[in-house]
Amino acid sequence: MRGGSVAVVGGSVAGCAFARAAARGGAERVTVLERSPGHLEDRGVGLCVVLDRYDELVRAGHLDDGIRHHPVTARHWVARGEDGDPRGRVLWVQPMAMHSYHWGVLWQGLRERIPDGVEFRPGTAVTAVGGGGAVAGGGAGGGSGSGSGDVGAGPAWVETASGGREEYDLVVGADGHRSVVRAAVCPEARSEYAGYVAWRGSFDARLLDTLPGGAARWPEEEVITVCYPGGQVVLYRIPGLTPGSTLVNWVFYAPAPAWLRRADEDSDPLGFPVGALDTARHGELAELAERVLPPYWAGVVALTPVERILLQPIHDLATPRRTAGRLLLAGDAATLVRPHTTSGAAKALQDACAFEDAWRASDDWAGLLPGYDLERGEAGRALVDLSRRLGRAQVTGAPDWSAIDGPGMAAWWRGQLGTSGGFGGLALDRKPNPPSADGN
Ligand SMILES: Cc1cc2nc3c(=O)[nH]c(=O)nc-3n(C[C@H](O)[C@H](O)[C@H](O)COP(=O)(O)OP(=O)(O)OC[C@H]3O[C@@H](n4cnc5c(N)ncnc54)[C@H](O)[C@@H]3O)c2cc1C
Repeated sequence: MRGGSVAVVGGSVAGCAFARAAARGGAERVTVLERSPGHLEDRGVGLCVVLDRYDELVRAGHLDDGIRHHPVTARHWVARGEDGDPRGRVLWVQPMAMHSYHWGVLWQGLRERIPDGVEFRPGTAVTAVGGGGAVAGGGAGGGSGSGSGDVGAGPAWVETASGGREEYDLVVGADGHRSVVRAAVCPEARSEYAGYVAWRGSFDARLLDTLPGGAARWPEEEVITVCYPGGQVVLYRIPGLTPGSTLVNWVFYAPAPAWLRRADEDSDPLGFPVGALDTARHGELAELAERVLPPYWAGVVALTPVERILLQPIHDLATPRRTAGRLLLAGDAATLVRPHTTSGAAKALQDACAFEDAWRASDDWAGLLPGYDLERGEAGRALVDLSRRLGRAQVTGAPDWSAIDGPGMAAWWRGQLGTSGGFGGLALDRKPNPPSADGN
């Protein structure tokens, strides 16, 4: 298919990748509408892409070696030991080939790879969308979403906070967890709070030398998972924003603190972005780290300046459909997985690959939208299921770490994955299972 106009709501990982995919597919006009007024790069921390998914994404032209990353070769699972070893007792050394990224470096790389003809409009919040019968938001055409619609009944439209209304042939919702586009495509979909939080932090890796044993106690290519009753901490290095610099990045899964805020009784708890934590709340984290982690890893967490720590309640969400009328969902707007699968960024980029393939294979919108939905819908739901299993096995229903050894850990891990094969995201060429005779 050639021509047509596409609005992409959200200019983060999924938004940049979809803008590029639409332009490469042959769209005549592509516009990215991003709520944030400035560069997003300072707000992120670390994320990983497993090597198999990375290689697929490179072959598909959605990632390349020019975006700085750090190699990871093994995952060491440790727990506090009786013998007082500062690094803890090693439960299992798991081979694991991944690239770790600074979120901002990845975003900047994807942003730079959007072709010149695409308009990227920062500081533009979309307040309402509709198209083909599906409507959501607070604008003139807004109200509650219908979540249905005829693909042929375009065009789609967006309304922005400035009051303007614009029409497009297709609106892509790459607007993340609290997506306004999703409210039009499937208003019944609700994100679920997992019942625990992730504290996250990062700091200049040179500070490790101030710890007893220094940086040498932690080889650069190891990702460490420290297990404790009620949670775990995952630590790894990532490239810094400045070329040549390295950061330590950690994610500390823990029970929700009593003061976690909810906007109202029924809503999911809200997080604290970087810079919003006060010292009393930070003190709770420091006390927990001191109490449950081996001394070296408690020391690593303690090196993090309070203004570099954020708190994120863990949610997940599976949508029953990704398209309605001329609206389409991408990335976290389409499926939100718990971070244990290490797949958020890879999943968003895979969505863009599938969209580009569907675009090239279709003669019209009626072919493109269902093709994309079929290709990515089941994969997304399978990944959400896997992320729930991993979260239960590793956090809320974790085993007694003092009684487990290497072979026990390997069997425990295999039990979580089952036949899904999805750690790091499902393979791009995995075909969706056709519906069975009873529709399941
Ligand atoms: C600032 C930031 C930092 C992040 N840091 C990390 C990290 O450190 N590690 C990690 O694993 N994941 C991080 N993520 C999430 C990770 O990027 C995603 O899981 C994955 O990459 C897919 O993201 P996405 O593009 O689908 O959604 P998101 O990254 O959530 O992006 C959604 C975008 O849509 C914009 N938006 C939302 N609503 C509207 C609206 N109504 N109108 C216009 N624009 C709108 C938002 O401003 C945002 O830029 C971060 C996301 C953001 C936005």
